[in-house]
Amino acid sequence: MSLHGNHLIAGKPVAPEGPTFNAISPNNSQPLEPAFGDATEAQIDAAFQAAEEAFDGLRTATPEIRATFLDLLADKIVGLGDALLDRAHAETGLPMARLTGERGRAVGQCKLFASLIRDGSWADARIDHAIPDRQPLPKPDVRRVMQPIGPVAVFGASNFPFAIGVVGTDTICALAAGCSVVVKGHPAHPGTSELLASAVYAALEEAGLPAGSFNLMHGKSNKMGTALVKHPLANAVAFTGSLKGGRALMDIAAARPTPIPFYGEMGSINPVFLLPGALKARAAQIGEAYVGSVTMGVGQFCTNPALVLGVQGVELDAFVTAASAAAEKAAPATMLHGGIRSMYCEGTAAIASTAGVSIAGQSDADPSDEATQAECVIFTTDLATLEANDTLRHEVFGPCSIVTNCPSKADVLRFAKSMEGQLTATIHGTPEDLIEHSDLIRVLERKVGRIVFNGFPTGIEVCPSMHHGGPYPSASHSFFTSIGTASIYRFVRPVCYQGFPDESLPELLKAKNTRNAIRLVDGAFTKDDA
Ligand code: NAP
Repeated sequence: MSLHGNHLIAGKPVAPEGPTFNAISPNNSQPLEPAFGDATEAQIDAAFQAAEEAFDGLRTATPEIRATFLDLLADKIVGLGDALLDRAHAETGLPMARLTGERGRAVGQCKLFASLIRDGSWADARIDHAIPDRQPLPKPDVRRVMQPIGPVAVFGASNFPFAIGVVGTDTICALAAGCSVVVKGHPAHPGTSELLASAVYAALEEAGLPAGSFNLMHGKSNKMGTALVKHPLANAVAFTGSLKGGRALMDIAAARPTPIPFYGEMGSINPVFLLPGALKARAAQIGEAYVGSVTMGVGQFCTNPALVLGVQGVELDAFVTAASAAAEKAAPATMLHGGIRSMYCEGTAAIASTAGVSIAGQSDADPSDEATQAECVIFTTDLATLEANDTLRHEVFGPCSIVTNCPSKADVLRFAKSMEGQLTATIHGTPEDLIEHSDLIRVLERKVGRIVFNGFPTGIEVCPSMHHGGPYPSASHSFFTSIGTASIYRFVRPVCYQGFPDESLPELLKAKNTRNAIRLVDGAFTKDDA
């Protein structure tokens, strides 16, 4: 399938009118055809009008039809075959094995949300029957269920072209909920986005859903992203990217005449705490595995373990020795785009030039400029230096991490209490360590979204219990996850129906439980009719 470089509004190609840009392959720094363009405000408006027109058809389609669409989409994505993988490899530099695995995750997400909405339990239906003779006042019949909020804006992420891209977690759960989408493809991989969009339109058509349910806008300017967030027909925004970009867009969403929710998943340094029992038993083993996690995906994960804390001593030294040796063996690898690489080089240079920081180990081989490569760097420092330098406590996106010697357990706890919000924290320890350090866990419960024990935070399981979010600045709203089935709650809101006759209620609130959903009826969870 040859690429055309157009925006797609309700499935129709719309030629770019604004400035054009080409994706630059990070593999060889060469431009890729065709050229894409920045969507104009008029084109963004047309996309939202199409999304608004499609919304009623999408939301009123039966869950079975939307689920069928998601299953079809999974097949169509796989059906794009090598053309999709080749283009994504050319645009992102991600190795084919990783892309094949990520495609599996994207396809799995479609199927997971299909099965979620086939069973209506997710919609949190609640029914409280009337008690007309209650004294001193009669109780009305009150029922509530989640309803889709309307068209939403999605920013495709750079680092997961399939799983968090234009048909990634945000778009899939919005469509599953019944919300139409206007998505901005990440400008580093516009061809990949166009191919994925073709799969969406084919699946929408086959399922009999309106084409305006999905609209793809390209763009490389902040003006264009701003226009998406400001559009009066946007009801929420989902974003994965930098704190700088996320915070700017979050403020724009809040400053609108009608503010809308902004679900931003932004930066995190994902601290790793090495407790004494684990260090004593397996310092070298953890050190080696840690570098595997730091270098996974060339460190381009928001869950990269960028900071390690342990109490100083020979065991922590053994951890650093093993980590340094592993870092030296780690081959430099291609990053997603030149901008990310420049920021990585600037970020690691700033850390390296901080007094009190040393390089413990780095890739033996030199990175290639032409192939946009980054090398792995493991730094060491002490707690006083970490606390005195903001630069050391902010995300540097890429395969680097800082190991910090702390004077005592009490100092580790003090630092944990001072940390900004994080997506994850990791503890390596024994069960005895956990009991001994229960105060650390209590602190982390207030600071992070996910606590990992004896593992690493990279590699996020897509499942109902996953929480991928955390207190600001790791995310804009700590209650919501962007990964896993609970992510659907970003795009719905409860609507309460009081005194309605059965025939006019939404299906999930009727007396007969036709969907066999779990409902809260008069205070008790049940699948019985109400
Ligand atoms: P980004 O710069 O945050 O951009 C993400 C998306 O938001 C792009 O479509 C970008 O469009 C748009 N955008 C950014 N700032 C904007 C603004 N002020 N106004 C309007 N739109 C804006 O992320 P990136 O390009 O993926 O990578 C850059 C850095 O982001 C990385 O070095 C890393 O630090 C961070 N990052 C974090 C995560 C994470 O999961 N936390 C993931 C990926 C990247 P334009 O390109 O047109 O500006």
